[in-house]
Amino acid sequence: MHELSIAMSLIDVITETLIRENADKALSVTVEVGALSGVVPEALQTAFVKAASNTPLQDCRLSIFYVPVSVHCSVCERICQVPPDGLLCPNCGSSNIDIVRGRELDVIRIETS
Ligand SMILES: [Zn+2]
Repeated sequence: MHELSIAMSLIDVITETLIRENADKALSVTVEVGALSGVVPEALQTAFVKAASNTPLQDCRLSIFYVPVSVHCSVCERICQVPPDGLLCPNCGSSNIDIVRGRELDVIRIETS
């Protein structure tokens, strides 16, 4: 399962942060999950709880920010939000677009104590 391996690497990142910051506990971790990242937030949440159980991170809370897809259109030079399956400029209908947001799978914050 895809989300479980992501959850395991999250645990690795948090564990490294705890060591680096000489902290005892991770209270929460915040991740950004893009609509095009292929990760289902609910599945990641479930996988994280499972991966963290019986580890020092079992009380660590996972917050997931879902990032919608944004594209930059090179025809009308606008940045618009689009559905993940509708990769066309909603303004002019051009397919000459670059994805600027929506592929994220990033840890943006780890709160330690
Ligand atoms: Zn356009």
